[in-house]
Amino acid sequence: MKISVAMGDGIGPEIMGTVLRVFEKASVPLEYELVEMGKEVVLSGEQTGISASARQSVESSGILFKGPMETPQGGGYKSVNVTARKLWGAFANKRVYRSFPGVPAPIGSRHLDLTMVRENIEDTYGAVEHMQTHDVAQCRRFITRPGSEQVHRYTFEMAARKGARHVTCAHKANIMKLTDGLFLEVFYDVAKDYPEIEADDVIVDALAMRLVLDPSEFEVIVLPNLQGDILTDLAAGLVGGLAYAPSANIGDGICIFEAVHGTAPDMVGQDLANPSALVLSGTMMLRHLGLVPHATAIEKALEQTLRSMHKRPDLGQPIPVFRTSVFEEKMLDQLDAVHIPEGELPRMEVLRRTEPKMRISPTPEHTVLRGVDVFLESGLPPKLVEAQLNEIGGWLKLTMISNRGTQVAPTGSAYTDCVNHYRARFETQQPVSQESIMSQLAAVGERFQLCGAEWLREIDGKQGYSLAQGQS
Ligand code: NAD
Repeated sequence: MKISVAMGDGIGPEIMGTVLRVFEKASVPLEYELVEMGKEVVLSGEQTGISASARQSVESSGILFKGPMETPQGGGYKSVNVTARKLWGAFANKRVYRSFPGVPAPIGSRHLDLTMVRENIEDTYGAVEHMQTHDVAQCRRFITRPGSEQVHRYTFEMAARKGARHVTCAHKANIMKLTDGLFLEVFYDVAKDYPEIEADDVIVDALAMRLVLDPSEFEVIVLPNLQGDILTDLAAGLVGGLAYAPSANIGDGICIFEAVHGTAPDMVGQDLANPSALVLSGTMMLRHLGLVPHATAIEKALEQTLRSMHKRPDLGQPIPVFRTSVFEEKMLDQLDAVHIPEGELPRMEVLRRTEPKMRISPTPEHTVLRGVDVFLESGLPPKLVEAQLNEIGGWLKLTMISNRGTQVAPTGSAYTDCVNHYRARFETQQPVSQESIMSQLAAVGERFQLCGAEWLREIDGKQGYSLAQGQS
């Protein structure tokens, strides 16, 4: 079976070279098609960092095993790594954290086997950002029902396959009631299909503390993208750092396996890079492909290698400097004695696509428009903005003005500092047409510089918009 391999930038070629030689020693029955991706491709003018031939190779093999890639500084370049995950629909980022005997780590010698799944496509990672005024930047955060359903179902399926009994959803739904609220609602909907697995949830800040105090409380954790980005690195710290944090980016058709760390520019070409995370990402890939005996043998060799490389100073043995070449030598030695019986080669069907898939849940019975939140620029104090907006007639009523999410009219506090960006809410108890909203926008636009607008919807009787802080 052929897979696509990108060596990566910085330490990428060094550690990928070691991993491929380890695979060879373990008789891994795979063929590798080397593809061009990363910094050089970006600098050659292909903004995505993915060459046309790489795109073709990955879309035909369905598997990309990649080294870390550098995003060139400045020039508005986007991360090649994030682009690859989004382009190929790798919606779930699975990270497995294991403690290794001998590896210095804050959790000490306590055993840890924790899996975290981070939603990989949505949230603030769409990077849909705009300057609303010269003082106000905005990033839109998207959490969708189909995207949440995909990542939660994958998490429960994966948990059931590995025999896990407990899945926890982390979120901030106490503050972001609609976005994280939706992520959480879909989690419990999906959990109903897996009654043998205990499902619970935790607020993400409490999770950070509980992970540090006792990570063994958790077995599998699923999180939205940004919170997942932060908390998964915290978990990497618990087991000894990024050098021990592997990851799999799982999609319906294409999966990407890579270490969590970057290109480590400070240690390129010095024989210092630790390939452990890439080895572990590789064994996640081998398990995914059904090459379990090969994965197990390599992981055992890794355990022995790390044990011998990290001698403990408290036992009178100084920790020697980590050498990539010594690591490789020890890994190959460990695999000398291993015999892996030849088995049937894995077969992996790549789901062929000719166009993007539309993911839409059943249409609700009643969606009603109730009004609009208009975002406008003004340096006037709240009372004057309110007075001008009240002069606009029509049957949509001004019910609230907020600044930075806090209500400043009709009631507010003199202690609420304001910036030059207001939200004015116009609404009515009656259903309202899109045309009425457009004419309301035009009327506000005659008095103020408009920055944007959001429709106020009620979906099957549920209010689809939040209250301002201080609004009742
Ligand atoms: P980094 O992970 O490259 O380095 C952070 C620190 O960890 C450095 O001190 C580095 O020396 C050390 N480190 C990282 N990997 C190591 C390893 N295998 N062995 C030993 N030490 C290791 O993060 P950074 O410095 O923030 O980013 C450098 C570049 O990598 C940037 O261009 C960034 O965009 C890119 N990056 C790529 C990926 C990816 O490919 N998935 C992930 C993160 C960062």
